[in-house]
Amino acid sequence: MKKISILGSTGSIGTQTLQVIAEHSDDFQIIALGAYQNDRLLEQQIEQFHPQIAVLVDEKAATRLRARYKGNTKILSGETSLLNAADHPEVDIVVTSMVGFAGLKPTIAAIKAGKIIALANKETLVAAGEIIMPLAKQYNSTIIPVDSEHCALLQCLQGEKHNQIKQLILTASGGPFRQYTKQQMNNISVGDCLKHPNWSMGQKITIDSATLANKGLEVIEAHWLFDIDYDQIQVVVHPQSIIHSMVEFIDGSIMAQLAAPDMRIPIQYALTYPNRAENSFKRIDFTKLSDLSFHEPNYLNFPALALAYQAGKLGGTMPCVFNAANETAVHAFMQARIAFLSISAIIEAVMNKHDVITTPTLDDIFKTDTWARTEATALIDSISQEKGR
Ligand code: MG
Repeated sequence: MKKISILGSTGSIGTQTLQVIAEHSDDFQIIALGAYQNDRLLEQQIEQFHPQIAVLVDEKAATRLRARYKGNTKILSGETSLLNAADHPEVDIVVTSMVGFAGLKPTIAAIKAGKIIALANKETLVAAGEIIMPLAKQYNSTIIPVDSEHCALLQCLQGEKHNQIKQLILTASGGPFRQYTKQQMNNISVGDCLKHPNWSMGQKITIDSATLANKGLEVIEAHWLFDIDYDQIQVVVHPQSIIHSMVEFIDGSIMAQLAAPDMRIPIQYALTYPNRAENSFKRIDFTKLSDLSFHEPNYLNFPALALAYQAGKLGGTMPCVFNAANETAVHAFMQARIAFLSISAIIEAVMNKHDVITTPTLDDIFKTDTWARTEATALIDSISQEKGR
């Protein structure tokens, strides 16, 4: 019986992780759940899975839950309580499915406690890969990606030698605007972004998928997870999202992982790794697949992808800047304060202002994150004043 903690249990990955666990209730037990503020959903999850502790970061939400709940689960609150869910002594696997840079501290706590990390919080690895990866080694903590592309790569690399990898090929759906002209892209609304063709995901990642910033984050994530140079990581647009990624080897052979686009499959693999388990999820029927197509990403219409490569290659604190500027700009876009195309423009402007610290400490990472958010916010304020938004 593996014992599980989920940080971000009320989000898209968190709820799907609980569906996987409900299917395999003889193999997994929930010890801890952590959420930001959705006390109603967390309460339902407590009733179903009976964790020892449940954390709500938001104090008001915790007060509401404590007033209603009379069961045995201990209700904790506040940001630091999330660390108790991350390094709980009974837990084997910590699923990190909170959104954004806020995941960094709890992920570090879980690593230092030697947990297996089922990593769904890619921003953590993007901002601080240089610190996270050696730290995981030092504390004997295994990081297993939940991201479907990286889960695919992990599967393609089983039993293979690192020095025989020619390149990693990350597939991208291309998002809902892959056939738009630049002109059409001027008027994209939040609602347009949320109609993702293949995957059901949280709001932030859905916007990131629409700008291709998500694929950029994934390029940096792949660099750290698999220790591969940026010029050996290729992005290919594959609108059907059936091939989740591929590895090309030095002899020209290519391994690909295929599955229905259902996040529960990579989530389950991360929980059962290196084993597999049966499930009731949707299967691919090849006789019903009409077409698998591939083409090069449009770097002109989706500059965030090129900026991510740039940030990754520059290294040091630059990926942290890319991530922080993106998070800040996406938030402003969701509030309709800036236009869709301004997201990448803001990332670029903040990156241009940054002096890279080449070998950052954790403190440098936190300071850089704050700096980049301040810079991005100032730009957003000036844009929204101009437009009277
Ligand atoms: Mg992905």
